[in-house]
Amino acid sequence: MTEQQFDLIVIGGGGVGSSTAYFAALRKLNVLVLEQFPRGHEQGSSHGETRVIRTAYHEHPDYVPLAQNAYKLWQRIEDRFERALLSPCGLMLAGPPDAETIHGARTASDLHGIELEDVPAQEFQERFPGFNLPEGYEVVYEPNAGFLDVEECVETFFELAQLKGAQFAWDSPVTHWESDGESVTVFVGEKTFHARNLVIASGAWSNQLLNETPGFPSLEVLRKFMVWFPVRADSYDLSLGSSIFHYTMPYGEFYGFPSLDGETVKVCEHSGGRTVSPPFKEAPEMMDSDLEPLERFLTDVMPDLEPQSESYSPCLYTLTSDRHFIVDEHPQHQNVHFAAGLSGHGFKFVNVIGKALADLVIDRETEQPISFLSLKRFTNPGF
Ligand SMILES: Cc1cc2nc3c(=O)[nH]c(=O)nc-3n(C[C@H](O)[C@H](O)[C@H](O)COP(=O)(O)OP(=O)(O)OC[C@H]3O[C@@H](n4cnc5c(N)ncnc54)[C@H](O)[C@@H]3O)c2cc1C
Repeated sequence: MTEQQFDLIVIGGGGVGSSTAYFAALRKLNVLVLEQFPRGHEQGSSHGETRVIRTAYHEHPDYVPLAQNAYKLWQRIEDRFERALLSPCGLMLAGPPDAETIHGARTASDLHGIELEDVPAQEFQERFPGFNLPEGYEVVYEPNAGFLDVEECVETFFELAQLKGAQFAWDSPVTHWESDGESVTVFVGEKTFHARNLVIASGAWSNQLLNETPGFPSLEVLRKFMVWFPVRADSYDLSLGSSIFHYTMPYGEFYGFPSLDGETVKVCEHSGGRTVSPPFKEAPEMMDSDLEPLERFLTDVMPDLEPQSESYSPCLYTLTSDRHFIVDEHPQHQNVHFAAGLSGHGFKFVNVIGKALADLVIDRETEQPISFLSLKRFTNPGF
């Protein structure tokens, strides 16, 4: 019996892989996704209820057009398939005047005309009940920011991709792959799979699958925790208009979401984290050193939360040295593409990254503005 030849194999069924599978299948490719864990697993980076989506992009204004495309595309998928994926609720950024979040958001807003309000300190208490504002802090508010239901987004892509004919092989850890430029062979233990094209969307495991790629930088993987704290009052209720918040404190960066259930609030530290290595089984338990900065933040800023956590979930950040993603064609194989190093802020973009990867596979070009995320910036810094 001859083995099936796919148009495209995608390694990884997380945020990027599920989206790539959908957009490639939509464009009539015969797609196979190989995922090492079961469907809906919580071992990678695309789980834990919520992800921030915002467009006044403080990390770099080059992300703004991509974030605007992502925002519209999430809304189009919601409308077309009657899914609830994106909840606009606004985002409050608080920090000292030199905080990168505040001046970065202002720069992005000025350059791209994004609505961003300066909130005077005397209006703060009334507008953000349940939050304290440290002396001398500035506040800006992005009214159109919101959050994505992370599990629902990934599941939506799985379902839509399957409807378009994509196949998924769960519990299929890829050990290595080969390409001769025309076709690829992908190895899962003793089994081999064949396709004309390969997309590698392997999140925290990218170093293992891309380590022989010329110019590919070693990515650092950090263990992070999402922590849910019980509320003492209804100050943070989504239903009462509470927003996402992000504070730059002298001891770290903290953010969280409005209460979805009226009982708990999810709060995370964006800074910090412990470096971990494959297979990332170590340190899934939260330690005092993970919790202490969060407790200090709650004591300083959120008096209506109990500082003793109710539950938590571990997650992985995969960081490039400049904290920007890499989305590109493999420098040696034109039929291999990858997205890696989404650096703790990539979920909002997985729809447009998946669409761009499908375009690159089929057309070798894309209208998505991703050239600033090229691998070449590591080998040719002037690029
Ligand atoms: C705590 C936390 C909070 C975050 N908050 C935000 C936020 O608010 N907003 C935002 O935009 N982003 C946020 N992010 C970042 C965002 O979630 C990630 O950038 C994004 O989910 C990464 O998607 P991915 O597809 O690259 O990785 P993943 O979703 O982890 O997918 C990679 C998949 O590849 C599979 N895989 C790996 N190797 C193999 C192999 N050899 N064979 C088969 N399968 C393999 C893995 O099992 C995994 O399922 C956050 C991340 C974390 C951890």
